[in-house]
Amino acid sequence: MENNINLPRNNKKRIVIIGAGFAGLKLARKLSGSPYQVVVIDKQNFHQFQPLFYQVAASGIEPSSISFPVRKIFQTHSNLHFRNTELLSVDTDHQYVITGAGEIHYDYLVLANGVNTNYFGSDKLEKNSLPMKSTAEAINLRNRILSSFEKANLTEDPKEQAKLMSVVIVGGGPTGVELAGAIAEMRRYVLPKDYPELDFSKMKICLYEAAPRVLNGMSDNAGQKALQYLAKLGVEVHLNMRIEDYDDDKVSLSDGQSLYARNLIWTAGVSGQQTKGLATELYVRGNRLAVDQYNHVIGFENVFAIGDACFMEGDESYPNGHPQVAQVAIQQALNLARNLKANNTWKAFRYTDKGSLATIGRNMAVADLPAFKFSGVFAWFLWLFVHLMAIVGVKNRFFVFVNWAQSYFSRDQSLRILISPYRKK
Ligand SMILES: Cc1cc2nc3c(=O)[nH]c(=O)nc-3n(C[C@H](O)[C@H](O)[C@H](O)COP(=O)(O)OP(=O)(O)OC[C@H]3O[C@@H](n4cnc5c(N)ncnc54)[C@H](O)[C@@H]3O)c2cc1C
Repeated sequence: MENNINLPRNNKKRIVIIGAGFAGLKLARKLSGSPYQVVVIDKQNFHQFQPLFYQVAASGIEPSSISFPVRKIFQTHSNLHFRNTELLSVDTDHQYVITGAGEIHYDYLVLANGVNTNYFGSDKLEKNSLPMKSTAEAINLRNRILSSFEKANLTEDPKEQAKLMSVVIVGGGPTGVELAGAIAEMRRYVLPKDYPELDFSKMKICLYEAAPRVLNGMSDNAGQKALQYLAKLGVEVHLNMRIEDYDDDKVSLSDGQSLYARNLIWTAGVSGQQTKGLATELYVRGNRLAVDQYNHVIGFENVFAIGDACFMEGDESYPNGHPQVAQVAIQQALNLARNLKANNTWKAFRYTDKGSLATIGRNMAVADLPAFKFSGVFAWFLWLFVHLMAIVGVKNRFFVFVNWAQSYFSRDQSLRILISPYRKK
């Protein structure tokens, strides 16, 4: 099988990487200058920095500041190639992938295609709630929140106003907690100035979590502290509570009660995506692809999975799989790049946990570092520093820094712009 998507033909072995997220991009960059032809395929033409999606949704930073065109990164690397198309299926017998643009042969295939939002089988939640798993979805969220306030300002019906202003967030992980905090800060500092005619005592921000605590992957201390911070910001947190249904603005809860909100944001979980051509038995817990300690997909010598998409078997320290975070994705990419370049001595992957951080609001963050755990203003500055340094591109870092500094001193978010195609009513 030859490729038919206009790739240079030479005698280099070809590594096809699916996904230009944290894992795929790091792997490609590390293989720059290697004897391989490296082809990265992504359905988007940019790398996105997911940890700051919630700030895009809360009008804090521009989407372009956390997105970076893959082609710009590859400009100076002659053995790296990018194709903007979608993986459809894999033929492991004949070593090729089928994409939306055509077939491409591989010598090595690396699946770094991440995960999708998990609605736990509920079609209504999928149709009616707002996810936040891509830059486009974060922009959509920003539009929805802003347009709801515009609509609330156009009605005199108090019930309709309360419904439009209220926000329900499902999932008490870092994403849900950070987003709840950011919207609560908008309610405190920004929205009342923009909409002086609205009564903000009607605006509820509710966070629902099925588990008995928030920030499940972090220490008890961090979970407790986050609850205190959320209470300080006026977020109503409901633990041990599931959302059963959401239709026609009605949120039905597992205790039989219900409430009304126009915007329900779903951050309650993720699930891997099965690729046609790979046996379903290879997908294990969380629909992640089972891999060995070298990231080989079980049973294959030349097919790998890295990052959120994979579940590593045989690591006794992580019997439930590694956490689905950027550091795991990056470290697996580094290890695989090293192995692919080493030829003979392959090294098993070992995760080095550098700690976890979550921010709830201005001067309020929690930090679980390997040596010690702390919270408050120092944790917040550490969060700012770590996230700023992790963003791809000096220009993006600069713009995010300027935005943060501006909103810190002015207590304002300058990006409350509703950009969507105008539709005649
Ligand atoms: C809102 C949010 C906040 C987060 N906050 C943090 C945080 O604070 N700290 C942290 O460590 N982690 C955080 N994470 C998790 C972190 O973003 C992931 O662990 C990380 O992105 C995983 O990297 P990856 O390369 O495996 O997948 P991704 O970064 O998701 O990349 C997958 C790529 O594959 C592409 N793709 C998918 N399917 C296809 C297909 N069929 N064809 C072609 N391309 C495809 C996608 O477009 C994407 O570019 C957060 C995640 C979210 C959603």
